[in-house]
Amino acid sequence: MAEKTKTPQKKVSYGSNVCQMCGRKQGLVRRYNIMFCRQCFREWAPTMGFKKMN
Ligand SMILES: [Zn+2]
Repeated sequence: MAEKTKTPQKKVSYGSNVCQMCGRKQGLVRRYNIMFCRQCFREWAPTMGFKKMN
């Protein structure tokens, strides 16, 4: 059965809610098809060009 949908599937595993960087489950931040914990997001945000959103 070929399940080829038009939806772009990235390597992000949506089933498991863990940080894609460190694998933590605490304080996950899901943005832009990525899933980082708050700590990893903090470190990566400036790297990816994000600014403070608070
Ligand atoms: Zn993390």
